[in-house]
Amino acid sequence: MLVVGSGAGALTAAARAHDQGFSVSIIEKAPLWGGTSAISGGALWVANSGRLGDCDSREKALAYLRACTEGEVPEARLEAYVDQAPLALDYLEKIGVRLEANPEYPDYRQDLPGALPAGRTIDPQPYDGAKLGEHFFTLRDQLSFMKVLGRISLSNTEGRALSKRRKGWMTLLMRMMAEYWLDFGWRAKTTRGRRLTMGLSLVAPLGQAVFDRKIPLHLGVRLLSLTKHPDGGFVATVSRGDIQVEVRARKGVVLGAGGFEHNAELRALHLAPGATTDHSPTPKGQNVGDGLKAGEAIGAATEAMGNAWWAPAMYGPMGDDPDAVYVLFMERAFPGGVVLNAHGRRFGNEAQSYNDFGALMIDQAKVTGTSDCWLFFDAGFRKRYMVGPMMAGALTPDHKLPADWLGKVYHRADSLAALASQIGLDPGAVESSIARFNEQADKGVDADFGRGGDTYDHYFGDETFPNPNLAPLRQSPFYAVRIVLGDLGTKGGLKVDVNANVLDVNGAPIDGLYAIGNTASSMMGRSYPGAGGTLGPAVTFGFAAANHLARGRNTPALPAAQTLDA
Ligand SMILES: Cc1cc2nc3c(=O)[nH]c(=O)nc-3n(C[C@H](O)[C@H](O)[C@H](O)COP(=O)(O)OP(=O)(O)OC[C@H]3O[C@@H](n4cnc5c(N)ncnc54)[C@H](O)[C@@H]3O)c2cc1C
Repeated sequence: MLVVGSGAGALTAAARAHDQGFSVSIIEKAPLWGGTSAISGGALWVANSGRLGDCDSREKALAYLRACTEGEVPEARLEAYVDQAPLALDYLEKIGVRLEANPEYPDYRQDLPGALPAGRTIDPQPYDGAKLGEHFFTLRDQLSFMKVLGRISLSNTEGRALSKRRKGWMTLLMRMMAEYWLDFGWRAKTTRGRRLTMGLSLVAPLGQAVFDRKIPLHLGVRLLSLTKHPDGGFVATVSRGDIQVEVRARKGVVLGAGGFEHNAELRALHLAPGATTDHSPTPKGQNVGDGLKAGEAIGAATEAMGNAWWAPAMYGPMGDDPDAVYVLFMERAFPGGVVLNAHGRRFGNEAQSYNDFGALMIDQAKVTGTSDCWLFFDAGFRKRYMVGPMMAGALTPDHKLPADWLGKVYHRADSLAALASQIGLDPGAVESSIARFNEQADKGVDADFGRGGDTYDHYFGDETFPNPNLAPLRQSPFYAVRIVLGDLGTKGGLKVDVNANVLDVNGAPIDGLYAIGNTASSMMGRSYPGAGGTLGPAVTFGFAAANHLARGRNTPALPAAQTLDA
């Protein structure tokens, strides 16, 4: 069996297929393994997993997913996910991934039935990368903005303790720095820390499971095309550099080759204008829709091609640095900031999830002609919070910023009108929008857009304020940074059934062909139900694909009660 790609879903499929008795090979086009999954937060959104008490149920989970997906995803797919995801988690744990429910991360749509205030986001726990031996050095590294000082990996929980400056945050920071610097033996080998967290702590143990099983992972090998073999299975044409060879995959192929976010042509064809390949922080040049095209060429149907995991982002000040785009996961929610569009107007609740805010950016572009917008903040905000790569002013005041940051990436002026003129917005509109926002912030209630109205908004807010998401912008100087429409990958793709089996244009399953992760059309529709909403399905349907292949065609998805080894 051939697995294409080495993200979390692909590695899960490979390990599971091996455990089901298949001979498996993995090809990865990049010289590094792990894909976007490695650079991600690593969270898995899995409902009803029983990992945080008994707050959840199958019914609640389905009600929530139905509401999130607004009738765009067949009920059977939602059920398959809710039933199989907890089994996939059990399997991940069995093969060495340590998982814990995040006790604080709320579902993103608290306004919908079945939403929970916490319990469905499952975080992988730190992993010692030294266990990978030589494979450590070909594991894709995290983005520098996800690390302390661009070097030291931290878990989601640690990141939260530091960003919120919770009791003991300084001790935690010192301990992490000491652990990193005092690891003399490892420091002599590399500046990369071996304490792997977030996406790395998901992908690394999965990789280890693959290596322990002696499943070959061929780096630098790209899938070019697939054809059906007359005797069953597929012939894959693959390349390494200039050399092309044909590989027979007798039992099947799992396409885990990511989406098409780095393919400008496909983007132009399917996605909203305004978002370019540069705005995606996923590994440059890798996910260009190869899996999608290989599937389509042998008759696969596609679905929901206009969807992406939207994420407001900003350009960093580092020119050609590949990390130069920063996703603004938190900044929009901090009190003392507000987002205005090109007309100088607010257009929604800034604290809502990145995916939903991205969708709003697209919507308002119909009026303003651009999805670009601006985060305005005042001196109090600047002092307290980080914005992209710029640390809080309390740690890095303006005079310590590199010379080209102010005026190029971060704009500053003594008055809102001067700031608006500097960035080409209408000063009157900016002043009146912020005056209106300030009135509401003073009252602690955003009557216009409901910002700060639920536990999701508060999650990234600042609990030291009466409303953790609202404070007026009054303290000069004022700042502004441009927000562009970014993404964490695309989510339209090959149409699949409940087993991740790819469907042809007539709706019939293509025997032996599976698509997972962002190569498949997402079972989340246009929604992002909670942190882990992309990787949860990726690993679950990687697991499900291997199970289905092992059980033979036309078998139903595993029912909820079925145990792993049954
Ligand atoms: C900063 C950031 C944080 C995120 N945090 C989270 C989070 O906490 N939880 C969550 O659920 N999601 C998160 N995401 C999104 C998530 O990481 C991605 O949606 C997910 O990793 C996609 O998985 P995938 O397997 O489809 O693709 P990938 O993980 O990108 O894997 C695809 C692999 O296929 C390879 N490939 C492509 N074409 C070929 C070919 N022709 N032949 C061989 N190999 C090929 C690629 O090189 C790549 O390695 C985050 C994303 C980012 C950028």
